[in-house]
Amino acid sequence: MYDVVVVGCGPVGATTAALLARHRALSVAVVERELEVNTQPRAGAVDADGLRIWADAGLSDELLDHPLPLAVHLSTLEERDGGDRRVRPRLTLPSATSDHGFPTVSFFYQPAVESGLRAVLEARENVDLVLGSEVLDVRASSGDASLIEVVRTAVDGPEQVIMTARYVVVADGGSSTARGALGIGLSGMSWAEERWLVADLVDVPESVRRGAGELDALNRGFHFLCAPSRPGVHLPLPFDHIRAEFALNAGEIEAFRAGELDFLRGALSERGLDFGSAQELETCVVRSAVYTYHARTADRFTALGGRVALVGDAAHMLPPFGGQGLVSGLRDAACVASKIWLALAHHGSPEIVAQYEAERRPHVWAAMWYARIMSAAVATSWRAFVALRNMVLAGLNAAPEWVVRKLRFVPRVGLAVGDTVPVFDAQSSWSSDVAGFAVTRVCQQSVRS
Ligand SMILES: Cc1cc2nc3c(=O)[nH]c(=O)nc-3n(C[C@H](O)[C@H](O)[C@H](O)COP(=O)(O)OP(=O)(O)OC[C@H]3O[C@@H](n4cnc5c(N)ncnc54)[C@H](O)[C@@H]3O)c2cc1C
Repeated sequence: MYDVVVVGCGPVGATTAALLARHRALSVAVVERELEVNTQPRAGAVDADGLRIWADAGLSDELLDHPLPLAVHLSTLEERDGGDRRVRPRLTLPSATSDHGFPTVSFFYQPAVESGLRAVLEARENVDLVLGSEVLDVRASSGDASLIEVVRTAVDGPEQVIMTARYVVVADGGSSTARGALGIGLSGMSWAEERWLVADLVDVPESVRRGAGELDALNRGFHFLCAPSRPGVHLPLPFDHIRAEFALNAGEIEAFRAGELDFLRGALSERGLDFGSAQELETCVVRSAVYTYHARTADRFTALGGRVALVGDAAHMLPPFGGQGLVSGLRDAACVASKIWLALAHHGSPEIVAQYEAERRPHVWAAMWYARIMSAAVATSWRAFVALRNMVLAGLNAAPEWVVRKLRFVPRVGLAVGDTVPVFDAQSSWSSDVAGFAVTRVCQQSVRS
């Protein structure tokens, strides 16, 4: 029997297990379906909270120092005489140093961090890492109501294995099998009609990069490309990678499917990255795939009286525009790991863990709204809204730098006197009043009422 079984060893499951495993008295098992870490970069941005949590989890300094702290630009694409396009940053948000010493935003390479987290787990004697085994069911033990059973496939054969644990953390991603087995629904919306092409490139030749002009030169920063004809995202990732995301217009999904490389080559050339041929591009493509985005949360974040907690994408799926998808999962990991430790080490009740939902759901909701507002601001083609957005961006860009540095849209979490669970630290900065405060208050009211 284990103190804790973690289902799924993606970035959130691995972080939760590493945080728990710092307490040598706890026995932890992690069950992961795949043998190797996912080699495709998905999350690209991490904020200071995420880096602080990874530092607590024991990620090496080398990996913590690796993310690139970059400015975020909200940019438009403008036609110049002669037809070529120019990227015009309308608002630049510099990456600053946060109160706890990490950059407020930086860009990382997910496979490297996932490998680093696995190395942390492998080095812990109190962790069993079970790779190549799929979890099929999570249920209350029939013999002892205080125990949970995790049913999984054997690593080397067709038979099923049952593990028992005092607590189970479900971190098996957006299409979570465990969440389904627990009968927990996933509510919200998906943008089924809006499709995005996401491409990761590596070692793009200097001759091709030069054509990207400001897109490549502007500190190699992160750009939201607010172009009504084709909204998108463009950013560098460590190890000489480039992430390019393009909104697909009506009918383009068919064109993409008919010839992925030719379509991608055309889309990249709209940004000045001109590959001579599809073959030349092919050598640089790590992946190109079409995604739809979701804004969904699990109907409950805990189950079986607080003995089971859902974290990461298993609990919530956020649109990627706020860079909050993974980071929200890392905040879950920190919250759940500390509560499970409290419950186990101090003979507390699982109700401590059940409070996790009250603590995390309002914040996830605020992050979700922020991501949705960013999606609308970047992807809108509605002229009145485009004009309004550009005015707001111009106003903010003209403001003194200290004003822009103070902007914070995703509220902090903090404790105030008299609070039983941490709440948003909404008064700590005037900039919270700009967006975070309003969103925060609405979310807190909605969740509590
Ligand atoms: C294109 C794209 C761009 C993104 N950009 C950002 C960004 O910039 N910033 C950000 O914060 N987030 C971003 N995200 C979101 C981010 O990648 C996810 O939030 C994050 O990977 C979720 O981590 P997770 O550990 O919860 O789930 P996952 O990464 O999905 O990991 C789940 C793990 O569970 C395993 N598993 C699944 N089922 C089972 C089972 N039955 N038994 C055992 N194991 C199982 C899987 O193999 C996997 O290893 C992006 C996502 C995408 C797709």
